[in-house]
Amino acid sequence: MKKILVIEDDRVIRENILKLLKAEGFDVTGAENGAQGLNAAVSNLPDVILCDVMMPQLDGYGVLAALRSHPVTATVPFVFLTGKADRSEVRQGMELGADDYLTKPFSKAELVGAISSRLKKQAALAQQHNLRSSSELVQDAADKLEQIKTSLCGALEREEFQVYYQPQINVQSGKIMSAEALVRWLHPEKGLISPAEFIPAAEETGFIVQLGEWVLRTACKQMQVWQNAGFSLQQVAVNLSPRQFHQPDLSSRVAQILAEIGLEASSLELELTESLMVEDAESAIATLQQLKDLGVSISIDDFGTGYSSLSYLTQYPFDTLKIDRCFISNITDGCTNAAIVKAIIEMAHSLCLEVIAEGVETEAEKDFLWRYECDAMQGYLFSPALPAVDFEQLLVEGK
Ligand code: C2E
Ligand code: MG
Ligand code: MG
Repeated sequence: MKKILVIEDDRVIRENILKLLKAEGFDVTGAENGAQGLNAAVSNLPDVILCDVMMPQLDGYGVLAALRSHPVTATVPFVFLTGKADRSEVRQGMELGADDYLTKPFSKAELVGAISSRLKKQAALAQQHNLRSSSELVQDAADKLEQIKTSLCGALEREEFQVYYQPQINVQSGKIMSAEALVRWLHPEKGLISPAEFIPAAEETGFIVQLGEWVLRTACKQMQVWQNAGFSLQQVAVNLSPRQFHQPDLSSRVAQILAEIGLEASSLELELTESLMVEDAESAIATLQQLKDLGVSISIDDFGTGYSSLSYLTQYPFDTLKIDRCFISNITDGCTNAAIVKAIIEMAHSLCLEVIAEGVETEAEKDFLWRYECDAMQGYLFSPALPAVDFEQLLVEGK
């Protein structure tokens, strides 16, 4: 089934298009603003994107520029939806690399026709691409990685990084309880680059230590601002990569940052992945204990995707377990994921761990988690990661 992403801030228009395309047999996703659209494009990789030109904050041009410079979405067919046949608007879109445009209001035949011709063109291109040798493709990927590594150095001074915040919601109350800090790299030419792409590169070069410390400091400062403003946010969660975790003076660096900012250690949670636990258990436990002694909470991220030796859950001083999003999707189809998630929640609770479900995208998934007493959730159903100002707006609205 071909996937179509519709980025349109007007709810009525968006829902109309989604309904029309669904009836035509497409797998459709809607996004109500540019930032949400970008996130959905990178994570779902649609076959065609339809995007409104005029939207507040990140408009259609910004979305297109970011998509075109992101290696994962660079070639996804992009169709602009313009309000009127304004030639300069259309030209600007096409110059930025749009493939087609539709002038609102358009008929169902025009809409479906534009999508079909994009899909046909894409299929022809894919065939050509497959003719390229696999060694060429491997070389391309290696070149890309080298480019990323080179431009990472200096990106911090050039202030190209931003920290976005994704709300973590209390499942029972439906209110925001905490935020996960997720770094974003806005490259001046390449646009938004996904952390899934540059974090491994930064880890390889060692740059992650510097970047990670900047993220930690930025997130702690932001948390302090929100607490001072009176928002009842419990914690900010910051991801730690293996290389960061293995710094010999990690706990004293964290303590120093908290002291400099004046943030309570209990307001900080550090997220680690399972892979860290298998290497040198004894020193990992010692480091975790030092962090716990400061008063910082520890969560185990992407649970279930790594080595999954359950014995470590009893040996390590974790507070929270985050169920990876691969177990959450299809949870309601009565398949094995449902059984796994139920078992993880029960097991975590009997070990006195709090449970957060990642990647919650539908009401049905939320209802399932509510029924099985999962403590918290995060995912596009509630909100993608947002810039601090937009996250704050959610807090102001009392969400
Ligand atoms: P993670 O820590 O597991 O973060 C969750 C990822 O899932 C984020 O992707 C988030 O945007 C995405 N996500 C959230 N809700 C949904 C949903 O409902 N559906 C789908 N499909 N995806 C959802 P993001 O921001 O691209 O980050 C990817 C990974 O990069 C993170 O996975 C984390 O491992 C790493 N990362 C991000 N920021 C940092 C950082 O500051 N430091 C370190 N060391 N790693 C980071
Ligand atoms: Mg995380
Ligand atoms: Mg995760």
